[in-house]
Amino acid sequence: MAKILLTGDRPSGKLHLGHYVGSLQNRVALQHQYESYIFVADVQALTDNFENPNLVKESVYEVILDYLSVGIDPNIATIYIQSQIPEISELTIYYMNLVTHSRLERNPTVKTELIQKGLEESFSVGFLCYPINQAADITAVEGEIIPVGEDQQPMIEQTNEIVRRFNRIYGEGILKECEALIGKVGRLPGIDGRGKASKSLKNAIFLSDERDIIKDKVFAMYTDPNHIKVSDPGKVEGNIVFAYLDVFHEDKEEIDSLKKSYQKGGLGDVQIKSILFSSLEKILFPIREKRKTISKDFVMDIALNGSKKARKKAMVTLEKVRAAIGIKYA
Ligand code: ATP
Ligand code: MG
Repeated sequence: MAKILLTGDRPSGKLHLGHYVGSLQNRVALQHQYESYIFVADVQALTDNFENPNLVKESVYEVILDYLSVGIDPNIATIYIQSQIPEISELTIYYMNLVTHSRLERNPTVKTELIQKGLEESFSVGFLCYPINQAADITAVEGEIIPVGEDQQPMIEQTNEIVRRFNRIYGEGILKECEALIGKVGRLPGIDGRGKASKSLKNAIFLSDERDIIKDKVFAMYTDPNHIKVSDPGKVEGNIVFAYLDVFHEDKEEIDSLKKSYQKGGLGDVQIKSILFSSLEKILFPIREKRKTISKDFVMDIALNGSKKARKKAMVTLEKVRAAIGIKYA
């Protein structure tokens, strides 16, 4: 039997180039090889967007549209919505007993996100516990291969700790461990040069951005602040335009020679940005066009049917878990 691939995204906005290289490309490439479960984590998105439920609701639809636009095939992969599988919430409650408060606070991703989101002084219990919720997402469908970006590696470790602890206490082999599969680029930087490209930080090029928006974003990209005149020697390290060219421009030799000219002086930011814009447009044009052909009814149909299928699988896991813990009275 094929192994199970599981992964998801938070509906806190539309998907961007970071998702594309960090996780989506792997999902598309592997959907024929593994039994794929791909979900939109609306319950998790609410942990830091609880005051903005409309954003979450609208983004569920937008994220699924993004999946279909990049080539995830709904006839092969099961696409579903986290909140429609209440079994995940019940699993989360049981797993909460297996994780200490201090372990959650030490989770490097949680730490970084608290700073990024300005939540260090005051954050909800729900937010702190979202890594536990992720362990429930993964184990509910017995996910083994998890395509994610680098920032999610600590979440996979946390999941495996929960799995091992559960199995030690309630019985070996009940829950399965999983492994992260990091994409071609584990961490695409934001266009502003601060941290990773992220929906919440609004520093990303979205897969659905129109041509003019992409152009504006590329031309506003962070380069080398000391590269003022075209003739000035420029820095390539930390220069976001070159970081993106490395990822998205096909001709690696051309990039090498551009880097050399830039470092020497004589190559302007406008030139390198124009080249990057063309490379991105080549990738994003077909995605954007496909997006326009998909109706909202079709998206919701897929999501609700997928949720029914995923729920059946989660029910089996929950029954196993309840029985192992001894919560079974009939
Ligand atoms: P938010 O700001 O709301 O956390 P996000 O942009 O970080 O949104 P997520 O939904 O949290 O997106 O992440 C979905 C998946 O995409 C995860 O596997 C994550 O690791 C991956 N991912 C997100 N941003 C990047 C990036 N910049 N580079 C590579 N992978 C990324
Ligand atoms: Mg994130």
